[in-house]
Amino acid sequence: MGTFKALVVRKSDSGQTAAFEDFDAAELMDGDVTVRVTHSTVNYKDGLALSAKSPVVRRFPMIPGIDFAGVVEASSNPDFPVGRSVVLNGWGVGETHLGGYAEVARVKGDWLVALPEGLTAGEAMAIGTAGYTAMLSVMALESHGLKPADGPVVVTGAAGGVGSVAVTLLAGAGWHVIASTGRPAEADYLKGLGAAEIIERAELAGPGRPIGKERWAAGVDSVGSHTLANVLAMTKYRGAVAACGLAGGMDLPASVAPFILRGVALLGIDSVMCPKPIRQEAWRRLGAQLDKAKLGQMTQTIALSDVPQAAADILAGKVRGRLVVTVG
Ligand code: NDP
Repeated sequence: MGTFKALVVRKSDSGQTAAFEDFDAAELMDGDVTVRVTHSTVNYKDGLALSAKSPVVRRFPMIPGIDFAGVVEASSNPDFPVGRSVVLNGWGVGETHLGGYAEVARVKGDWLVALPEGLTAGEAMAIGTAGYTAMLSVMALESHGLKPADGPVVVTGAAGGVGSVAVTLLAGAGWHVIASTGRPAEADYLKGLGAAEIIERAELAGPGRPIGKERWAAGVDSVGSHTLANVLAMTKYRGAVAACGLAGGMDLPASVAPFILRGVALLGIDSVMCPKPIRQEAWRRLGAQLDKAKLGQMTQTIALSDVPQAAADILAGKVRGRLVVTVG
Protein backbone atom coordinates (compact mmCIF):
# COMPACT_ATOMS: atom_id res chain seq x y z
CA MET A 1 0.00 0.00 0.00
CA GLY A 2 3.02 2.32 0.41
CA THR A 3 2.18 5.60 2.11
CA PHE A 4 -0.97 7.66 2.67
CA LYS A 5 -1.66 11.22 3.80
CA ALA A 6 -2.31 11.66 7.51
CA LEU A 7 -2.21 14.20 10.31
CA VAL A 8 0.29 12.74 12.76
CA VAL A 9 0.92 13.68 16.39
CA ARG A 10 4.42 12.92 17.64
CA LYS A 11 5.99 13.45 21.02
CA SER A 12 9.56 14.46 21.74
CA ASP A 13 11.44 15.95 24.69
CA SER A 14 10.26 19.39 23.58
CA GLY A 15 6.57 18.35 23.64
CA GLN A 16 3.80 17.25 21.29
CA THR A 17 3.72 18.27 17.61
CA ALA A 18 1.12 17.69 14.89
CA ALA A 19 1.99 17.72 11.18
CA PHE A 20 0.76 16.31 7.88
CA GLU A 21 2.90 13.39 6.73
CA ASP A 22 3.06 10.62 4.18
CA PHE A 23 2.45 7.84 6.69
CA ASP A 24 3.91 4.40 6.05
CA ALA A 25 1.09 1.84 5.72
CA ALA A 26 3.38 -0.73 7.35
CA GLU A 27 2.96 1.27 10.58
CA LEU A 28 -0.83 0.76 10.66
CA MET A 29 -1.95 -1.03 13.82
CA ASP A 30 -3.57 -4.46 14.07
CA GLY A 31 -7.09 -4.93 12.76
CA ASP A 32 -9.03 -7.21 10.42
CA VAL A 33 -10.59 -4.40 8.35
CA THR A 34 -8.77 -1.69 6.36
CA VAL A 35 -10.92 1.29 5.43
CA ARG A 36 -10.43 3.97 2.77
CA VAL A 37 -11.55 6.98 4.82
CA THR A 38 -13.75 9.48 2.99
CA HIS A 39 -14.97 11.66 5.88
CA SER A 40 -14.10 12.44 9.46
CA THR A 41 -15.19 15.17 11.89
CA VAL A 42 -13.87 17.52 14.55
CA ASN A 43 -15.30 16.86 18.00
CA TYR A 44 -14.36 18.61 21.25
CA LYS A 45 -12.20 15.60 22.17
CA ASP A 46 -10.29 15.94 18.88
CA GLY A 47 -9.60 19.54 19.88
CA LEU A 48 -8.23 18.29 23.20
CA ALA A 49 -6.13 15.62 21.45
CA LEU A 50 -4.50 18.15 19.13
CA SER A 51 -4.00 20.77 21.86
CA ALA A 52 -2.05 18.42 24.16
CA LYS A 53 -3.88 20.16 27.04
CA SER A 54 -5.50 16.95 28.16
CA PRO A 55 -4.11 13.39 28.06
CA VAL A 56 -6.40 12.22 25.23
CA VAL A 57 -3.55 10.83 23.09
CA ARG A 58 -2.00 7.90 24.92
CA ARG A 59 0.15 6.33 22.17
CA PHE A 60 2.73 7.99 19.89
CA PRO A 61 2.89 8.45 17.02
CA MET A 62 -0.89 8.95 16.84
CA ILE A 63 -3.23 9.83 14.02
CA PRO A 64 -6.03 11.69 15.84
CA GLY A 65 -9.67 11.67 14.72
CA ILE A 66 -12.07 9.79 17.00
CA ASP A 67 -14.50 8.93 14.22
CA PHE A 68 -14.60 8.31 10.48
CA ALA A 69 -16.72 7.02 7.63
CA GLY A 70 -15.43 5.23 4.57
CA VAL A 71 -15.41 2.14 2.41
CA VAL A 72 -13.80 -1.21 3.26
CA GLU A 73 -10.68 -1.70 1.15
CA ALA A 74 -9.36 -4.98 2.60
CA SER A 75 -10.98 -7.34 5.07
CA SER A 76 -10.84 -10.76 6.66
CA ASN A 77 -14.06 -10.06 8.59
CA PRO A 78 -17.16 -11.63 6.98
CA ASP A 79 -19.44 -8.93 8.45
CA PHE A 80 -17.56 -6.16 6.65
CA PRO A 81 -16.53 -7.30 3.15
CA VAL A 82 -14.62 -5.18 0.64
CA GLY A 83 -16.80 -2.37 -0.70
CA ARG A 84 -19.05 -2.09 2.40
CA SER A 85 -19.68 1.48 3.63
CA VAL A 86 -18.88 1.76 7.32
CA VAL A 87 -18.84 4.20 10.25
CA LEU A 88 -16.56 4.13 13.25
CA ASN A 89 -16.67 6.08 16.48
CA GLY A 90 -15.06 5.47 19.86
CA TRP A 91 -13.19 2.39 21.07
CA GLY A 92 -10.10 4.53 21.71
CA VAL A 93 -9.59 5.31 18.02
CA GLY A 94 -7.71 8.63 17.78
CA GLU A 95 -6.56 8.10 21.40
CA THR A 96 -4.79 4.73 21.66
CA HIS A 97 -5.43 3.37 18.14
CA LEU A 98 -4.56 5.25 14.89
CA GLY A 99 -7.60 7.35 13.93
CA GLY A 100 -9.60 9.11 11.25
CA TYR A 101 -7.46 12.07 10.08
CA ALA A 102 -5.92 9.89 7.39
CA GLU A 103 -6.73 8.45 3.98
CA VAL A 104 -6.55 4.92 5.42
CA ALA A 105 -7.48 3.38 8.79
CA ARG A 106 -7.16 -0.21 10.00
CA VAL A 107 -9.42 -1.31 12.87
CA LYS A 108 -11.15 -4.29 14.42
CA GLY A 109 -14.33 -5.14 12.53
CA ASP A 110 -16.10 -5.45 15.89
CA TRP A 111 -15.74 -1.70 16.30
CA LEU A 112 -17.45 -0.88 12.99
CA VAL A 113 -21.08 -0.12 12.31
CA ALA A 114 -22.49 -0.46 8.78
CA LEU A 115 -23.38 2.95 7.36
CA PRO A 116 -26.96 3.35 8.62
CA GLU A 117 -29.77 3.26 6.11
CA GLY A 118 -30.84 6.76 5.13
CA LEU A 119 -27.45 8.39 5.69
CA THR A 120 -24.60 9.27 3.34
CA ALA A 121 -21.05 9.02 4.68
CA GLY A 122 -20.96 12.83 4.89
CA GLU A 123 -24.22 12.92 6.89
CA ALA A 124 -22.95 10.20 9.22
CA MET A 125 -19.92 12.34 10.01
CA ALA A 126 -22.08 15.48 10.29
CA ILE A 127 -23.67 13.51 13.14
CA GLY A 128 -20.37 12.00 14.30
CA THR A 129 -19.52 11.17 17.89
CA ALA A 130 -21.22 14.35 19.09
CA GLY A 131 -24.56 13.58 17.44
CA TYR A 132 -24.43 9.92 18.39
CA THR A 133 -23.80 10.99 22.00
CA ALA A 134 -26.82 13.28 21.80
CA MET A 135 -28.89 10.26 20.71
CA LEU A 136 -27.48 8.13 23.56
CA SER A 137 -28.59 10.92 25.91
CA VAL A 138 -32.11 11.00 24.46
CA MET A 139 -32.33 7.20 24.71
CA ALA A 140 -31.19 7.34 28.36
CA LEU A 141 -33.93 9.87 29.21
CA GLU A 142 -36.50 7.69 27.44
CA SER A 143 -35.27 4.58 29.25
CA HIS A 144 -35.85 6.45 32.49
CA GLY A 145 -39.48 6.73 31.41
CA LEU A 146 -39.49 10.42 30.55
CA LYS A 147 -41.65 11.82 27.76
CA PRO A 148 -42.56 15.27 26.40
CA ALA A 149 -45.76 15.42 28.48
CA ASP A 150 -43.64 15.40 31.67
CA GLY A 151 -42.42 18.95 31.07
CA PRO A 152 -39.61 20.86 29.33
CA VAL A 153 -36.11 19.56 28.66
CA VAL A 154 -33.03 21.78 29.04
CA VAL A 155 -30.02 21.37 26.72
CA THR A 156 -26.76 23.05 27.79
CA GLY A 157 -23.95 23.98 25.41
CA ALA A 158 -26.82 24.10 22.95
CA ALA A 159 -25.01 25.71 20.02
CA GLY A 160 -22.21 23.10 20.14
CA GLY A 161 -22.21 19.72 18.39
CA VAL A 162 -23.86 17.55 21.05
CA GLY A 163 -26.21 20.41 21.92
CA SER A 164 -27.35 21.15 18.36
CA VAL A 165 -28.19 17.51 17.63
CA ALA A 166 -29.87 17.09 21.04
CA VAL A 167 -32.06 20.18 20.45
CA THR A 168 -33.05 18.86 17.01
CA LEU A 169 -33.82 15.32 18.18
CA LEU A 170 -35.78 16.38 21.26
CA ALA A 171 -37.78 19.07 19.46
CA GLY A 172 -38.50 16.58 16.68
CA ALA A 173 -39.85 14.14 19.28
CA GLY A 174 -42.24 16.78 20.62
CA TRP A 175 -40.33 18.10 23.64
CA HIS A 176 -40.46 21.75 24.73
CA VAL A 177 -36.74 22.46 24.46
CA ILE A 178 -35.04 25.13 26.57
CA ALA A 179 -31.64 25.80 24.98
CA SER A 180 -28.89 27.24 27.17
CA THR A 181 -26.15 29.07 25.26
CA GLY A 182 -23.35 31.54 25.88
CA ARG A 183 -23.86 32.84 22.34
CA PRO A 184 -27.10 34.86 22.26
CA ALA A 185 -26.37 35.64 18.60
CA GLU A 186 -27.18 31.97 17.90
CA ALA A 187 -30.75 32.28 19.23
CA ASP A 188 -32.28 32.25 15.73
CA TYR A 189 -30.12 29.27 14.76
CA LEU A 190 -31.30 27.34 17.84
CA LYS A 191 -34.93 28.27 17.23
CA GLY A 192 -34.46 27.05 13.66
CA LEU A 193 -33.44 23.67 15.07
CA GLY A 194 -36.60 23.61 17.19
CA ALA A 195 -35.72 25.29 20.51
CA ALA A 196 -38.80 26.84 22.13
CA GLU A 197 -36.89 29.03 24.61
CA ILE A 198 -33.33 30.32 24.87
CA ILE A 199 -31.63 30.97 28.20
CA GLU A 200 -28.30 32.64 28.81
CA ARG A 201 -25.42 30.34 29.78
CA ALA A 202 -24.56 32.67 32.71
CA GLU A 203 -27.91 31.81 34.38
CA LEU A 204 -26.56 28.31 35.11
CA ALA A 205 -22.81 28.92 35.17
CA GLY A 206 -22.02 30.09 38.69
CA PRO A 207 -22.46 28.56 42.15
CA GLY A 208 -26.18 28.09 42.83
CA ARG A 209 -28.53 26.89 45.54
CA PRO A 210 -28.56 23.16 46.45
CA ILE A 211 -32.15 23.01 45.26
CA GLY A 212 -34.16 25.55 43.28
CA LYS A 213 -37.43 26.16 41.49
CA GLU A 214 -38.52 23.15 39.38
CA ARG A 215 -38.01 24.28 35.79
CA TRP A 216 -37.60 21.18 33.64
CA ALA A 217 -38.36 17.46 33.72
CA ALA A 218 -35.19 16.46 31.90
CA GLY A 219 -31.80 17.70 30.80
CA VAL A 220 -28.95 16.96 28.41
CA ASP A 221 -25.78 18.51 29.76
CA SER A 222 -22.56 18.84 27.75
CA VAL A 223 -21.01 21.42 30.09
CA GLY A 224 -20.52 19.86 33.57
CA SER A 225 -19.35 21.75 36.68
CA HIS A 226 -21.73 24.41 38.15
CA THR A 227 -23.95 24.17 35.07
CA LEU A 228 -24.75 20.50 35.73
CA ALA A 229 -25.19 21.18 39.46
CA ASN A 230 -27.70 23.95 38.68
CA VAL A 231 -29.52 21.87 36.08
CA LEU A 232 -29.95 19.11 38.69
CA ALA A 233 -31.12 21.61 41.31
CA MET A 234 -33.87 22.84 38.98
CA THR A 235 -35.06 19.43 37.76
CA LYS A 236 -38.64 18.45 38.58
CA TYR A 237 -39.68 15.65 40.91
CA ARG A 238 -38.54 12.25 39.47
CA GLY A 239 -36.90 13.90 36.48
CA ALA A 240 -33.49 12.96 35.06
CA VAL A 241 -30.41 14.60 33.56
CA ALA A 242 -28.11 12.92 31.05
CA ALA A 243 -24.53 14.08 31.77
CA CYS A 244 -22.32 13.70 28.72
CA GLY A 245 -19.76 16.51 28.68
CA LEU A 246 -17.24 18.73 30.42
CA ALA A 247 -16.94 21.81 28.18
CA GLY A 248 -17.27 23.99 31.28
CA GLY A 249 -15.28 21.79 33.68
CA MET A 250 -14.87 18.26 34.93
CA ASP A 251 -15.92 18.98 38.52
CA LEU A 252 -19.44 18.61 39.89
CA PRO A 253 -19.96 21.05 42.79
CA ALA A 254 -23.46 19.78 43.61
CA SER A 255 -25.44 18.67 46.67
CA VAL A 256 -27.40 15.47 47.13
CA ALA A 257 -30.61 17.48 47.66
CA PRO A 258 -32.09 16.93 44.16
CA PHE A 259 -31.51 13.17 44.49
CA ILE A 260 -32.89 12.64 47.99
CA LEU A 261 -35.64 15.29 48.05
CA ARG A 262 -36.90 15.04 44.47
CA GLY A 263 -35.80 11.58 43.33
CA VAL A 264 -33.90 13.19 40.46
CA ALA A 265 -31.62 10.81 38.53
CA LEU A 266 -28.22 11.58 37.06
CA LEU A 267 -27.65 9.43 33.99
CA GLY A 268 -24.04 8.99 32.87
CA ILE A 269 -23.41 8.86 29.12
CA ASP A 270 -20.29 7.26 27.65
CA SER A 271 -20.00 6.96 23.90
CA VAL A 272 -16.57 5.34 23.66
CA MET A 273 -17.15 1.86 25.10
CA CYS A 274 -20.94 1.82 24.64
CA PRO A 275 -22.07 -1.78 23.96
CA LYS A 276 -22.71 -2.68 20.33
CA PRO A 277 -26.52 -3.24 20.49
CA ILE A 278 -27.10 0.24 21.98
CA ARG A 279 -24.60 1.75 19.54
CA GLN A 280 -26.37 0.15 16.57
CA GLU A 281 -29.77 1.25 17.82
CA ALA A 282 -28.52 4.83 18.26
CA TRP A 283 -27.18 4.93 14.71
CA ARG A 284 -30.34 3.29 13.34
CA ARG A 285 -32.50 5.91 15.00
CA LEU A 286 -30.25 8.75 13.82
CA GLY A 287 -30.63 7.49 10.25
CA ALA A 288 -34.39 7.17 10.58
CA GLN A 289 -35.30 10.16 12.78
CA LEU A 290 -32.84 13.04 12.50
CA ASP A 291 -34.16 15.82 10.25
CA LYS A 292 -31.63 15.98 7.37
CA ALA A 293 -32.43 19.61 6.50
CA LYS A 294 -31.68 20.61 10.10
CA LEU A 295 -28.54 18.48 10.06
CA GLY A 296 -27.48 20.49 7.01
CA GLN A 297 -28.19 23.79 8.83
CA MET A 298 -25.84 22.84 11.66
CA THR A 299 -22.99 21.51 9.50
CA GLN A 300 -19.93 23.10 7.92
CA THR A 301 -17.55 21.12 5.71
CA ILE A 302 -13.79 21.60 5.91
CA ALA A 303 -10.72 19.98 4.34
CA LEU A 304 -8.27 17.74 6.21
CA SER A 305 -5.74 20.59 6.01
CA ASP A 306 -8.14 22.81 8.04
CA VAL A 307 -8.30 20.40 11.01
CA PRO A 308 -5.54 21.98 13.19
CA GLN A 309 -7.25 25.40 13.07
CA ALA A 310 -10.71 23.87 13.63
CA ALA A 311 -9.37 21.97 16.64
CA ALA A 312 -8.24 25.24 18.22
CA ASP A 313 -11.57 26.89 17.35
CA ILE A 314 -13.70 24.16 18.96
CA LEU A 315 -11.82 24.46 22.26
CA ALA A 316 -12.33 28.23 22.11
CA GLY A 317 -16.11 27.66 21.83
CA LYS A 318 -16.16 29.24 18.35
CA VAL A 319 -17.61 26.33 16.39
CA ARG A 320 -21.35 26.29 15.81
CA GLY A 321 -22.94 22.86 15.40
CA ARG A 322 -20.89 20.25 13.59
CA LEU A 323 -17.80 20.12 11.38
CA VAL A 324 -17.37 17.49 8.66
CA VAL A 325 -13.88 16.82 7.34
CA THR A 326 -13.60 15.58 3.77
CA VAL A 327 -10.66 13.21 3.55
CA GLY A 328 -10.86 11.16 0.36
P1 NDP B 1 -18.64 21.65 21.20
O1 NDP B 1 -17.45 22.51 21.47
O2 NDP B 1 -19.18 21.60 19.83
O3 NDP B 1 -19.84 22.09 22.19
C1 NDP B 1 -19.62 22.49 23.50
C2 NDP B 1 -20.49 23.68 23.80
O4 NDP B 1 -20.42 23.94 25.21
C3 NDP B 1 -20.00 24.97 23.16
O5 NDP B 1 -20.45 25.11 21.84
C4 NDP B 1 -20.62 25.99 24.07
O6 NDP B 1 -22.01 26.11 23.75
C5 NDP B 1 -20.53 25.33 25.44
N1 NDP B 1 -19.33 25.76 26.17
C6 NDP B 1 -18.05 25.80 25.72
N2 NDP B 1 -17.23 26.24 26.69
C7 NDP B 1 -17.99 26.47 27.77
C8 NDP B 1 -17.72 26.95 29.09
N3 NDP B 1 -16.48 27.26 29.47
N4 NDP B 1 -18.75 27.07 29.94
C9 NDP B 1 -20.01 26.76 29.57
N5 NDP B 1 -20.33 26.32 28.33
C10 NDP B 1 -19.33 26.17 27.45
O7 NDP B 1 -18.24 20.20 21.71
P2 NDP B 1 -18.99 18.80 21.44
O8 NDP B 1 -20.42 19.06 21.23
O9 NDP B 1 -18.19 18.00 20.49
O10 NDP B 1 -18.81 18.12 22.88
C11 NDP B 1 -19.48 18.68 24.00
C12 NDP B 1 -18.99 18.02 25.27
O11 NDP B 1 -19.42 16.68 25.31
C13 NDP B 1 -17.48 18.00 25.40
O12 NDP B 1 -17.11 18.21 26.75
C14 NDP B 1 -17.12 16.60 24.96
O13 NDP B 1 -15.90 16.17 25.52
C15 NDP B 1 -18.30 15.82 25.51
N6 NDP B 1 -18.54 14.57 24.81
C16 NDP B 1 -18.65 13.46 25.57
C17 NDP B 1 -18.91 12.26 24.99
C18 NDP B 1 -19.11 11.08 25.86
O14 NDP B 1 -18.86 9.95 25.44
N7 NDP B 1 -19.59 11.26 27.06
C19 NDP B 1 -18.96 12.10 23.54
C20 NDP B 1 -18.95 13.37 22.82
C21 NDP B 1 -18.72 14.56 23.45
P3 NDP B 1 -22.77 27.54 23.73
O15 NDP B 1 -21.88 28.44 22.92
O16 NDP B 1 -24.09 27.25 23.13
O17 NDP B 1 -22.84 27.96 25.17
